[in-house]
Amino acid sequence: MEFCPKCGALLIQKKKNLGCPRCSYASKSSGKIRISEKINLEKKPEIAVIKKRTDVLPVVQAKCPECKHEEAYFWTVQTRAADEAETKFFKCTKCGHTRREYR
Ligand SMILES: [Zn+2]
Ligand SMILES: [Zn+2]
Repeated sequence: MEFCPKCGALLIQKKKNLGCPRCSYASKSSGKIRISEKINLEKKPEIAVIKKRTDVLPVVQAKCPECKHEEAYFWTVQTRAADEAETKFFKCTKCGHTRREYR
């Protein structure tokens, strides 16, 4: 908000800039507020995105359902509960298709 330095009235948006509604004072500021809010993009569930260094993973024989390649990187991830079985992951060495296996 800006006020008129001459009469103290609240400046209003005129044609181009802010101006006083009582006297002829015109402000140099345009009064336009920049909207910097970013539009939140729809969050996609990142199920397939597993950040894992594949160069240190063991390669096992596992048929890829995508490209029928028979070798895949293999690793396991322990789920939250300690008594639960770990989840096995296979990532095709050819096409990179990643899948998980529950047990
Ligand atoms: Zn004024
Ligand atoms: Zn594959």
